[in-house]
Amino acid sequence: MTRTGTASTHILRSFALLLFLSVAGTAALADGETAPARDSKQPVDDAYTAKIHKYTTQPFFTSPLVDYLPASKNVPTPEAVLGDVAGAPGILPYAEDVYKYMRLLEKASPRVKVFSIGKTEEGREMIAVAVSSPENLKNLDENRARLAKLADPRAIKLDDTEADRIVAQAVPVYYITGTIHSPETGAPTALMELAYRLAVDESPYIREIRDGMITLITPVVEVDGRDRMVDIYHWHLAHPQDFYPPLIYWGKYVAHDNNRDAMGVTLKLTENVLKTYVDWKAQVLHDLHESVPYLYDNTAGDGPFNAWVDPILTDEWEMIGWRNVSDMTKFGMPGVFTHGVFDTWSPGYLMFIAAMHNGISRLYETFGNGGADTLPRTLDPEEYARTWYRQNPPLPKVLWSQRDNNNYEQTGLLTSLHYFNENKRLFLKNFYLKAKRSVTKPGAEGPAAYVLPGDDPRLGSQAALLQVLQKQAVEISRATAGFTVTLPVKKSPKPKKDAKDTKEKDTPPAPTTREFPAGSYIVRMDQPYSRIADALLDYQYWSPDDPQKTPYDDTGWTFGDLFGVQVTRVTDPKVLDVAMERVKEVHAPAGVSGDGTIYAINNNAEPALATLRYKLHDASIEAAEEPFESAGKKFSRGSFLLRNVTRAQLHDAISDLGLQATPVSAMPSVKTHPVRAARIAFVHTWLSTQAEGWWRIALDNLGIPYDYISTQIVAKTSDLHSKYDVILFPPVGFFSSPTAIVNGLPSTWGNPLPWKYTPETPNLVGKNDSTDDMRPGLGWEGVAHLQSFVEKGGVLLTATDTSRFALAIGLADGVSVANAQKMKIVGSVVGARLVDGTSPIAYGYDEKLSAYCDNGPIFSLSSISGARGGRRLGGEMHTRPTGRGTMDDPDFTIGRPGFEVPEEPKAEIWENPLLTDEQLHNNFRAIPPANRARVIFRYADSKELLISGLVEGGDEIAQHAAVVDVPTGSGHVILFSINPVYRGETRGTYSLVLNTILNFDSLNVGRKLAEK
Ligand SMILES: [Zn+2]
Repeated sequence: MTRTGTASTHILRSFALLLFLSVAGTAALADGETAPARDSKQPVDDAYTAKIHKYTTQPFFTSPLVDYLPASKNVPTPEAVLGDVAGAPGILPYAEDVYKYMRLLEKASPRVKVFSIGKTEEGREMIAVAVSSPENLKNLDENRARLAKLADPRAIKLDDTEADRIVAQAVPVYYITGTIHSPETGAPTALMELAYRLAVDESPYIREIRDGMITLITPVVEVDGRDRMVDIYHWHLAHPQDFYPPLIYWGKYVAHDNNRDAMGVTLKLTENVLKTYVDWKAQVLHDLHESVPYLYDNTAGDGPFNAWVDPILTDEWEMIGWRNVSDMTKFGMPGVFTHGVFDTWSPGYLMFIAAMHNGISRLYETFGNGGADTLPRTLDPEEYARTWYRQNPPLPKVLWSQRDNNNYEQTGLLTSLHYFNENKRLFLKNFYLKAKRSVTKPGAEGPAAYVLPGDDPRLGSQAALLQVLQKQAVEISRATAGFTVTLPVKKSPKPKKDAKDTKEKDTPPAPTTREFPAGSYIVRMDQPYSRIADALLDYQYWSPDDPQKTPYDDTGWTFGDLFGVQVTRVTDPKVLDVAMERVKEVHAPAGVSGDGTIYAINNNAEPALATLRYKLHDASIEAAEEPFESAGKKFSRGSFLLRNVTRAQLHDAISDLGLQATPVSAMPSVKTHPVRAARIAFVHTWLSTQAEGWWRIALDNLGIPYDYISTQIVAKTSDLHSKYDVILFPPVGFFSSPTAIVNGLPSTWGNPLPWKYTPETPNLVGKNDSTDDMRPGLGWEGVAHLQSFVEKGGVLLTATDTSRFALAIGLADGVSVANAQKMKIVGSVVGARLVDGTSPIAYGYDEKLSAYCDNGPIFSLSSISGARGGRRLGGEMHTRPTGRGTMDDPDFTIGRPGFEVPEEPKAEIWENPLLTDEQLHNNFRAIPPANRARVIFRYADSKELLISGLVEGGDEIAQHAAVVDVPTGSGHVILFSINPVYRGETRGTYSLVLNTILNFDSLNVGRKLAEK
């Protein structure tokens, strides 16, 4: 620290001391509010307290709430497990140790109860710890029954008086979750000590919390990632002079995105926390993170707020958030603020489970060191700048400890809990009101319901979507008879004032109706959790003119579109009177409709078809290359024809897949090709594994087997083609550059970064991959191996940044990527159009497709090797030159007869440009038609590009190729500009990948060759 630094620190210290004294003296509180002060009659644990002081680097990095530890005769302190105090340097407990301590607390104190709330993907336990008065804990069920009536006001017939009566008696539940983000390491020890304080401290301030409410704590959300993080930290302690490996895997599948799963609920941790939150009827879900100095309550952010959030909630954010800031500022703790960069639009964050289930979502970012080292920390100017929302900013440079972080986390939580308890009647009433407003939604803002038709061609994907809603605790009903609803009038643009056709002006368009068959699913909006269903099924619009120019995350997610299933938003309240019954579990109809030797299964791009191929090892399966009719049914291109399988075997295989098989008397007359179980290699880098993690979990859930290999293994494997038919190289993420994929991490200096089993790192290996050194990338050897794989007939599938990589290393001639100038597509749902429906990659798809795009690369095609395809402006560029006649006339030349102008070859934006005779003359670069890229899907026209979210400057990518099959050598490179497999939300585009796998050796089927 510099001289000036020391001086200013000193001044701050005296200032904080003054503030501290004034708070402890005569705090100005509202009537009846209890001041934070310890109980002078309760003894203090002096040794523990001394260590708290020792590890706190500045006296103003603590508060009167946590600068001492009350002593207890029979309840062990965190020291019993940690060997030191919470937040001590060098100590980072495994989840198991944290649980061990919580269970010690449970044993020693009637004020603590531990509940197991489920397992992670790798089988580790998740827990929730309830701390409250023994009486409250004894009456949990009774209290839950009370809260349930507030959570579902239908139970009390929306009777406000009855609600008031319950509000006066109920004990609220405040749910705190820690360390979902594994490198953000401080929460577990802070929560161990918090649980102790809540159980032991007899000060009036803490007693009120304990007696007045139930604090529920999940100290470790990402348990698999926590254990790996602790491993890494131990490795670091054992090799203090070395660089330590970055945490490349957190959970089994994804890293930071584990906090983007609250829509799709694909991960166990989301499912377990959601279930706990809903089962306990909790009022708050408060998630702890560490990335901003020193405590940023980023719940509210600066907009745009999620459109489906009740304004009652946004007011609650402000109340609790600002009170939090105020309380901690009074303690003299610098750097506590709310608002700031977050936008609160996407409902994908874990905390948003509460926002979408009538509770209060909260999130802290405190300041962590990514481990338990005490470190000098220097901030960026924008981090310590004073702003309107941060009047007391953090200091430019400090020594920062895990204990400091624990002090902030606990102080923030304790003041929140206390304030919440002081105002619990208000918050409980709000909880009821938000639920009531969810139930009365059809008559208020609407809609009345969403209907998913019983005759959707993709009943399997429809069931998958409804299962997501059921995980979200949404009630699903099913119509027992057909019904008709009135659809709202689509407003057409007003005719201009001088419009001549007055008839059109006078007659408003008539409302249309739609009929739905029996068996259609109805998601009623008059239910307590209508909000989440509405948010997932509705469309999102983010205006390019929004003052928020940097969306924090995805801007669009419409689940019906992304799942490829029909969803109708119905405002007609009559839909609620339709004869229907509640559905406990949604299953798509499945089975075999009779005996035969050949069975046909229609192809509607249902991912389950791929599952079936791998499930039925011995069956012979062929794909029809053209549509056909058989047994009175229509089958589309790509439909499966199965032989060598008994009805019983087939029935067993498809009964839980949502597929229906029909016996056919003979093979149809259309051409078919075999569908073989491709041998798949799934390639990951050691740069980042998150984006591919979403692909991995999708394949695992579908039961598609693959070898999981790193780019380093690709570099070492010269005979990829003899081992694999298909190599999937999913996105690396963070727009990784081709050079980063080839080079890996810098290895000219530094030490090897092992990711493997060692005594210090027992949790790194097993479920994922391992290496002695994470640094080497694919290398040029690896590039050569990929090239040889494709040359020899292999299929390499890439998406977004790996497509850029494939193009950069020259694996897909005739396709180039243009740099976007103004385009801004931030995690949006966009329209795509089928270009070549005969390609097996398109089997089962319709003309229109919705897809997830995040500034996808802009592909352009060229028919000349090595040339950049550009945006051909066509027509406008070739208007006639100045001369005689009208615009469409030919010009003339005086004194000679006219001549025939040769027709310019014209191609659409997404097509291969046709070559002129000039271009073809002795042009060894001209790509023969059979070697040119084949576009399967393109982006929609500019006007139809945006489906949900933000699309700005979309004309730069509109009409350009979105899914391309590039023949290379004897093989294929498949390039995706969209990301077809993403966050468990894009089931509708999974089959683009699966079709590629299933038809790996028949991808040229249906290929039409251009003339030139
Ligand atoms: Zn975080």
